[in-house]
Amino acid sequence: MQRVRILVFNAALGALDYRVPEGMKAVPGSIVVAPLGPRQIIGVVWEPESLEAAEVPESKLRPLVEVLPAPPLPAPLRRLIEWTADYYCAPMASVARMALASSAALRGGGTVTEYRLTGTEPARLTPQRLAALDALTGEQATIRELAATAGVSEGVLRGLVSAGALEPVTVDLDRPYPAAKPDFAVPELSPDQQAAADAFVAAVRERHFRPFLLDGVTGSGKTECYFEAVAEALRQGRQTLVLLPEIALTQNFLRRFEQRFGVPPVLWHSSVKSTERRRAWRAIASGEAQVVVGARSALFLPYANLGLIVIDEAHEISFKQDDGVRYNARDVAVIRAKFEAVPVILASATPALESMQLAENGTYERIELPDRFGGASLPSIEILDLREEQPERGRWLAPRLMKEIEARLERGEQSLLFLNRRGYAPLTLCRSCGHRFQCPNCTAWLVEHRFSRRLACHHCGHEVPVPELCPECGEADCLVACGPGVERIADEVRDLLPAARIAQATSDTLNTPERIADFVTAAEEGAIDVIVGTQLVTKGYHFPQLTLVGVVDADLGLEGGDLRAGERTYQQIAQVAGRAGRAQKPGQVLIQTRHPEAAVIAALAAGDRDAFYEAETQGRRDAGAPPFGRWAAIIVSSEHEAEAREAARMIGGSRPAHPDIAILGPAPAPLSLLRGRYRYRLLINARRSAQLQKVLREWLGPLQFPRGVRVGIDVDPYSFV
Ligand code: ADP
Ligand code: ZN
Repeated sequence: MQRVRILVFNAALGALDYRVPEGMKAVPGSIVVAPLGPRQIIGVVWEPESLEAAEVPESKLRPLVEVLPAPPLPAPLRRLIEWTADYYCAPMASVARMALASSAALRGGGTVTEYRLTGTEPARLTPQRLAALDALTGEQATIRELAATAGVSEGVLRGLVSAGALEPVTVDLDRPYPAAKPDFAVPELSPDQQAAADAFVAAVRERHFRPFLLDGVTGSGKTECYFEAVAEALRQGRQTLVLLPEIALTQNFLRRFEQRFGVPPVLWHSSVKSTERRRAWRAIASGEAQVVVGARSALFLPYANLGLIVIDEAHEISFKQDDGVRYNARDVAVIRAKFEAVPVILASATPALESMQLAENGTYERIELPDRFGGASLPSIEILDLREEQPERGRWLAPRLMKEIEARLERGEQSLLFLNRRGYAPLTLCRSCGHRFQCPNCTAWLVEHRFSRRLACHHCGHEVPVPELCPECGEADCLVACGPGVERIADEVRDLLPAARIAQATSDTLNTPERIADFVTAAEEGAIDVIVGTQLVTKGYHFPQLTLVGVVDADLGLEGGDLRAGERTYQQIAQVAGRAGRAQKPGQVLIQTRHPEAAVIAALAAGDRDAFYEAETQGRRDAGAPPFGRWAAIIVSSEHEAEAREAARMIGGSRPAHPDIAILGPAPAPLSLLRGRYRYRLLINARRSAQLQKVLREWLGPLQFPRGVRVGIDVDPYSFV
């Protein structure tokens, strides 16, 4: 009799043993269906020695139902799942689930039915039908997805099918992707670029683990360099994974990839529709998908034949996932490269301090591109001290910045104003009674969005229409907006320069791939004079006409004062500055601040990156902060304040005493209410030598909590709220 251990996708169950029926072939990694009580569950066959399960006598073992028609998860991926679960103190089941991100794909290939518009107008036109016809132009997807896109019920769409306005299309899930051509359009590289490319190509040929830090200034052509490594992986018939920090950047990448290799790469992120995900998953698992570009969720997919991993904009904090499994995709990608024995390239103009340190101590090979490509110069950076050059009352842009924007407008060049705040104003209050609009579910102000005339919470999505009367005192027309958001800055520019074509670039306006593509095209063609945007436009883009960057409020990021506030501010401003003057015309950057003396701002103004990193490194060393020491957080939450407090107190009360570990708290989290849950935090600061995970497991493992309490562990946290 063959006995197998199954990792089941239920964190509470963990691993269970089963019997393999006669004639069935189950090997480690096989994805199987198993009986559980009256139900059936999906799981993965695992090596029994690396996974604990309850002892069950042979006679009691139930037989597996079937092995699903998908390739077994490869051994390096199984090791990665174990490592991730162990390092981040997460259930293995939750990590493994990320590898099987498309459950439909496990059922094999075949076909699915999608629908698209026929161009025929239905005889009867209801408002809903009209809305659907309008929204679905150019779309093709399943009924459920189309209904979500159009914001109508599936019933409305079925009606449109009957009326002949929508037609079914059969889609073959296993239709092959067109082959990328490694030599489709080979660029001529500068000597620096060539040296970088040569090192990468050699590493891909060698086929073992080699981590690189590609440290190149903005506009140096980092993409062109790592594309040569991708080309080599293609020639070798091996797969490449390119991780990008945001979906918004994939559109841009896609185009550049197509120009270089003749075909688009395979895309993977949360808004790829289900049929495409299913197709992509199968091609990734079979080895047929050559190059996959995606957000962090692409990291755990079951690549059959990986040859290279690239992490672009590797400093970006969005690689850190803060819900579900709290992991850092940048760090796990390096571990994956190690298990897969392949090279990994971290590309950035403003590397994270942690990455710098690893390059410093020789763990990473640093490859530098000190100059912009094609002789373009780096922009000049100037501080605009708001205490001396004050904007007019009720305005946020200093006269000098406005004058520069106006000059660009006259010369037909572009300006970019950066403010990392969506909406019109971060706080709205009543002039007559002082009432402040707060989210009922979160410790946060509601943000006015004037365009959609709503007050919205940026944490939980709670939204209400802007009221006509103050809900507290009943006064009419009494609401005042406090402080600027992107919408308000756009208004200000419009007021002063009515002729300017202004585009707002935030996750509110650029929320679909199409809108992003339209924006990028318009910006590249010079159809936009002034871009007002959040961090969304700070990176990746190359707009040749853009010669002025204005940072509206450089002090904003320093306010919270968390561990990485300085670093993040430096990175954001250096990145957005890097959008200026990327082509022939030189760029200028104006940074508005009230604290020109702050170390970060001074370093930016002096263009002295080394000084900044040195000071920051020293500060971290003194504080025992990463990369010199380690942090972890324990987040306790419940819908009931008392329950959360009690659980936090219990954890605090059983804290271990350890010379290498300091434990702070419990204390109410800065965001003490989030999505209707009350939150408490404990912070753990450990020396690098401490066995942090072991301590956490032994500390929290034996504790019992009421059902409504959630206890989350965040190893290497990025968020301190
Ligand atoms: P980075 O990512 O380092 O900021 P990019 O890779 O976006 O820089 O390159 C900046 C611009 O220079 C892009 O438009 C890119 O196509 C162009 N470029 C870089 N290297 C070359 C090259 N060797 N030949 C032609 N164009 C290049
Ligand atoms: Zn909220």
